[in-house]
Amino acid sequence: MLKNSITFLGTGGGRVVVFRQIRHSGGMWLNLEGINILIDPGPGSLVRIFEHGFDTRNLDVIVVSHRHLDHSSDLNAVVESATESTKKPLNLLASPEDVIEGDDPILLRYLRKGIGEFGIIRENTEINYRDIKIVGTVRHIHEGAQTYGIEFHSQEKKVVYVPCGRFYEGMLEGYSENADLMIFNTTFPAPVEKYYHLSVDDVEQMLLRYRPKKAVITHFSIPMLKSDPEKIAARLSRKADLPVIAAYDGLRVEF
Ligand SMILES: [Zn+2]
Ligand SMILES: [Zn+2]
Repeated sequence: MLKNSITFLGTGGGRVVVFRQIRHSGGMWLNLEGINILIDPGPGSLVRIFEHGFDTRNLDVIVVSHRHLDHSSDLNAVVESATESTKKPLNLLASPEDVIEGDDPILLRYLRKGIGEFGIIRENTEINYRDIKIVGTVRHIHEGAQTYGIEFHSQEKKVVYVPCGRFYEGMLEGYSENADLMIFNTTFPAPVEKYYHLSVDDVEQMLLRYRPKKAVITHFSIPMLKSDPEKIAARLSRKADLPVIAAYDGLRVEF
């Protein structure tokens, strides 16, 4: 049942929704060909993992899309839990460099020995893990954090994650077409100049360009929740002529 599925531990985005927990946060649990990957362990991730019947000790890989706390605050807690306090190292942590290095890394230094391998995500990079690849695609423009598009490829499947960032033309090149699943951090219903986040209009352009088999919108701000994500997903579905799902906390999507 779990094989080739993704479970949304939380679907909140933006400061207010996440830090007042109007929706849960905590990222996504992806199972690709039996490999368990936790993506973006934001606030509450450790709690939501067990609440949804998962166990951190079954994690193979953790992926952090960028260092902002809504995507990374529980990284240390989950590493501590998954590795039984660093005794059994996690196989792979994949992230941009500033999550683990530099002046102000997210990963605590004493937990580094709990990580078997560090994979650095940059533009056009591939990290191999068993039979799958974690691919860094396009650079995103996202304030104060190195951020890239991230894809997960197996022999059979492609899952594409479009994390936070301000839309620019460069995002219409470099992602895979016809992915089995494409996930968009769709923070705003319409473009907001001062924030570095995707809007529904941007997602529409990317859907038309990349034509995934199925898409999910998530990471919702207050204006997005007020505009009703379900209605927006239905409208995107009609316009792009492909299934678009509005994520809710606990949603599981198979692909
Ligand atoms: Zn975010
Ligand atoms: Zn961010």
